[in-house]
Amino acid sequence: MDLKDHIRAIPDFPKPGILFYDISTLLRHADAWQVAMGRMARAVRPHHPDLVAGIESRGFLMAAPLALKLGCGFVMLRKPGKLPGGTIGLDYALEYGSDRIEIQADAVQKGQRVVVVDDLLATGGTMAAAIRLLQNIGAEVPAAATLIELSFLRGRERIGVPVESLVSYD
Ligand code: 5GP
Repeated sequence: MDLKDHIRAIPDFPKPGILFYDISTLLRHADAWQVAMGRMARAVRPHHPDLVAGIESRGFLMAAPLALKLGCGFVMLRKPGKLPGGTIGLDYALEYGSDRIEIQADAVQKGQRVVVVDDLLATGGTMAAAIRLLQNIGAEVPAAATLIELSFLRGRERIGVPVESLVSYD
């Protein structure tokens, strides 16, 4: 199955001039979602994760089923102020402005292998920040995984760990 058949590109969303790759058509197609998660599981399994970390919010839709398939736990990387209890965060720069992601302080034990998952890799800024945050709290990050990679933006060059992507646009 060509997963690209189930991803649509929507022009001028969320702002004029941006071409947005919409995964909701893939998620609502039972076979396509199943195939995507099977392929992601095959790509990630050799990295032997203890945990799969999902980036809010579409990353959760990939990371949670992936964790179930691999028999791993699942942890959330969230926008500020969303997680209860003690949290640790990391601020990172965007093209215009900055953003922050947080994780629960006790989510990962030192040395645990954590694969980070998102729906799409563009510039790589979000994924790089997620990996840095996990490393800051003592995780080992053997790989990152994403459904879609916009390879013309060369985001993977910023990541520093292998990136497993299922579909690439160049
Ligand atoms: P980056 O930090 O790599 O530039 O951007 C990746 C982040 O932005 C991901 O968390 C992803 O969900 C979101 N994103 C950026 N562009 C798109 C897009 O075209 N489609 C989807 N589904 N997400 C996008």
